[in-house]
Amino acid sequence: MLAIEIKNLSKSYKIGNSQFSVLNRINLEIKQGEFVAIMGPSGSGKSTLLQVMGLLDHADSGSYRLFGKNVEKESSNVLSDIRGSLIGFVFQQFHLLSKSNALQNVCLPSLYTEIPNPVLVAEKQLTKVGLQNRVFHTPNELSGGQQQRVAIARALINDPPIIFADEPTGNLDSKSKIEIMMELVRLHEEGKTIVMVTHEPEMADYCDRIIHVSDGEIINEEIKRKAKMIPESNQNFMRRKTGWSLISGLLKQSLFSLTSNRLRTFLSALGILFGVVCVISVMALGEGAKKSVEEQFSSLGANLVIVRTGGMRSGGVSLEAGTVNRLDVNDVTAVSRKFPEVKQISAVVNGRAQLVFGNRNWNSFVTGASANYESLRNLEPTEGRFFTEEEDNKRALVCLVGNTVVRELYEGKNPVGTYIKINRVSFRVIGQLPEKGSTGFRDQDDVVLVPLNTAMRRLLNKDAVDNLEMELDQNESSENFISQIKSFLHERHGTNESMGNIYQVMSMADIQSAVSETNQTMSALLIALATVSLLVGGIGIMNIMLVSVKERTKEIGLRKALGARESDIRIQFLIESTLTSLTGGFVGLVFGIFTVYFLQKSFGWTIVLSFPSIGFAFLFSITIGIIFGWWPSEYAAKLSPIVALRSE
Ligand code: ADP
Ligand code: MG
Repeated sequence: MLAIEIKNLSKSYKIGNSQFSVLNRINLEIKQGEFVAIMGPSGSGKSTLLQVMGLLDHADSGSYRLFGKNVEKESSNVLSDIRGSLIGFVFQQFHLLSKSNALQNVCLPSLYTEIPNPVLVAEKQLTKVGLQNRVFHTPNELSGGQQQRVAIARALINDPPIIFADEPTGNLDSKSKIEIMMELVRLHEEGKTIVMVTHEPEMADYCDRIIHVSDGEIINEEIKRKAKMIPESNQNFMRRKTGWSLISGLLKQSLFSLTSNRLRTFLSALGILFGVVCVISVMALGEGAKKSVEEQFSSLGANLVIVRTGGMRSGGVSLEAGTVNRLDVNDVTAVSRKFPEVKQISAVVNGRAQLVFGNRNWNSFVTGASANYESLRNLEPTEGRFFTEEEDNKRALVCLVGNTVVRELYEGKNPVGTYIKINRVSFRVIGQLPEKGSTGFRDQDDVVLVPLNTAMRRLLNKDAVDNLEMELDQNESSENFISQIKSFLHERHGTNESMGNIYQVMSMADIQSAVSETNQTMSALLIALATVSLLVGGIGIMNIMLVSVKERTKEIGLRKALGARESDIRIQFLIESTLTSLTGGFVGLVFGIFTVYFLQKSFGWTIVLSFPSIGFAFLFSITIGIIFGWWPSEYAAKLSPIVALRSE
């Protein structure tokens, strides 16, 4: 079986409008074990011929059999596998990876092709080319001759039956030239088929046969010595690497390239980093706002309905709320008799009051309500007790004070048992109210609570009440109830709808759903903002990946020459972009948590760090890495090996 059998092979390049023929109906046979030189002037098509033979390039027409196998119609994957297991390349420019040492460079093909104990084999090959003491040197620490010997060791690691060498001595001094030729002679003696392109007659003298090429045609052949016969082997085995051993190798390559370009990796991850910080803190803020609103509502009591008297229009003039007050204490019994769904109800009056304790003054709100106000509004005292119905009926001079009042008048000390002057009337403090926080409009803790009748008769001098506050049964829909209670009150007080919005009815359920709706809109906006910043981060990654692919075009070509499939290249670059983006995501997460913590500490904002937001940030950065890494990876994967190798 012939190693190489070429019939009528032609190739031309299209330059502008004219076809430019590089190879013109070449016929060539190379036996197994032969050492053949291809000679000819520069530009005669030698390299092109060698690249077609090495499956790095395609011919336009003609047939080509490599070890008896017709290869013109094979897919790029099969061609990669053949290159990986049957072919070794030696190039004029060595094509070593500059950041990897000699050993790593020699091992590179083992990434794609199954080679048992690659490191051992690589060390053995390096020893054979006399570099046993240079195993950990990087290319820039080696002379040209030594670099080419590394390349020869690399070509041999998969023990290929055939070696293609394109001007292997072209960049070397005369001493190194001879050393390299001696290596090739040694390989020839070991039984390798070698095809070498050269334009130096002294180098061609080492070969069995010289083929002279000119203008893309073989012009004559010169037999130097009779090729020695080697036992023919059937070259049909493929040793393509698969599964985890392939992926883990690619992962290591990606990690290596990312860590050897740390600054670049960091800079490209920066966009994602800020994006994730943004997502984390924004979502934490949103969650926090939601939580504090929810807390406020739960402090108000569930299913609470408040009726207030509003302004009454007369002749187009709107009267202030309270000017015409239409609610009175009798409404309480009337409403609870009429509406069984009202679980409890209290009339409420409000006013301002000047408080004096010892030599301290404080202007505060005073609220009067009945004894059930405690359970209606969740006002279980933190200190002392609530007032009783009896105290309310007796108009007792007792009060409960809110946190702000305690802070201002008592410097935070327990107020229970003391006497306080409210509008110059002396009251005994019987309890301290639980903290309710601020609604944003009003500090709910700046309040003194007294029994309803005490407030109306002894403090504020009111006949009418300001609010009716009631709690509905859990499953009662407030919507129906609101219209019913409005018409009931209109009927009772001889008013009607046309007189204006006299009874304003607010249900907490309604307000809560309105607030949570606003909250959702807010969250959506914030997420959109965070998404935009992550997208910008993704575009940043894509840019840098594209630059990196362009910069590493030659490396990509080399990997393909050594047996990498398109998918191997794609996966490697996808892993790189995903790892970059994940790194950004992770650092962003750490910074984000710090930011959240900082905001919480320094502004006292309610912030909730939620696991969904962390998961979201992570998922998003992986997705961004894949999406924005896709195009650069695809571009890299589709590069033709020869275009990549020829690029300078
Ligand atoms: P040699 O190796 O014998 O010096 P090559 O095989 O490298 O010659 O090139 C043969 C001819 O083909 C040269 O004239 C070169 O300019 C041309 N050539 C090579 N590659 C390309 C290409 N990608 N596009 C157009 N012309 C090319
Ligand atoms: Mg050339």
